[in-house]
Amino acid sequence: CGIVGYIGPRNTQDILIEGLSKLEYRGYDSAGIAVYTDGGLRVTKALGRLVNLENKLQNAPLTGSVGIGHTRWATHGKPSDVNSHPHTDVTQKFSVVHNGIIENYLELKDELIASGVEFVSETDTEVISHLVAREYNGDIVDAVQKVIKQLRGAFALGVLTEYEPDRIVAVRHASPLIVGIGEDENFIGSDIPAILKYTRNVFILNDGEMALITRDSVKLMTIEGNAITREMTYIEWDA
Ligand code: GLU
Repeated sequence: CGIVGYIGPRNTQDILIEGLSKLEYRGYDSAGIAVYTDGGLRVTKALGRLVNLENKLQNAPLTGSVGIGHTRWATHGKPSDVNSHPHTDVTQKFSVVHNGIIENYLELKDELIASGVEFVSETDTEVISHLVAREYNGDIVDAVQKVIKQLRGAFALGVLTEYEPDRIVAVRHASPLIVGIGEDENFIGSDIPAILKYTRNVFILNDGEMALITRDSVKLMTIEGNAITREMTYIEWDA
């Protein structure tokens, strides 16, 4: 269970894979990435070790300048391709990576199914992508904030939508998450080693905080939307 995200001019796929390789110790049931490429969101995921994902990507690379990735430690739903993250909504316009557990997912799932949503996985996470799609009204931060209010449990999230490919939304609530600050590029990660190869400047999110990340800015706020100012932390140590 590890999250990475990247936005910037470099090869996104390579940076996500490199980050995930540093997180693999946290869980390795499966791995996957979502990248905005050629005007759309594309997702590739694979059961088993990260190398399986790498092999898939070697045959069909995802080139783009923004993406999110995940290594999974299955809690709800067996390890499988379809249960791997990132999860998407029905329209495949929204992608979500999640660490943790959504305790009230069954309730939310029943309600979504009743409203006509078709689920493809057995995970607790998939409710989040459908909820974000349902709440979306042109502003991904607003949609994610509305969804968080409906979730109980522990979660760190990375959210990327095709409608706003210039931004990643990151959330921390009882599962770790950090933001890495680069020059004309920014990162998210479950922990510092995931991004340490690229930057030593980080914002460490606290529980109940979220971040809006673009290529040249990072906006920190509470999950209620109140702006936060925080000093950057400079990481002295090596992974
Ligand atoms: N509960 C989610 C799942 O089983 C996320 C697990 C994780 O943190 O890797 O898919």
